[in-house]
Amino acid sequence: MDQTKIAKEMKIVDRFVRVFCRHHHGTNGAGPCAECLDLIAYARKRLEKCPYDPKPKCKHCKTHCYRPDYRARMRAVMKFSGIYFVKRGRLDWLIRYVAS
Ligand SMILES: [Zn+2]
Repeated sequence: MDQTKIAKEMKIVDRFVRVFCRHHHGTNGAGPCAECLDLIAYARKRLEKCPYDPKPKCKHCKTHCYRPDYRARMRAVMKFSGIYFVKRGRLDWLIRYVAS
């Protein structure tokens, strides 16, 4: 996968993790905690190694490349932050991202 796509994808991951961290780990404005930074770094590594182009939605992917513990963490992040953004009507940038 090329760097532009990875950067785009990581922007989303980063935003989702930040929201989750703020609400669950009490970090405020200072950016994600060490644990969440680790999750972001892990997500980037998986993405760089993704053998598919275009990358399918992880949900529909045959290759479960995430380690189970990271997968559980990422799922919790996506679920919480997904709802958070929908509630605040902040899906404009998400839709723009998906549509582009
Ligand atoms: Zn955190």
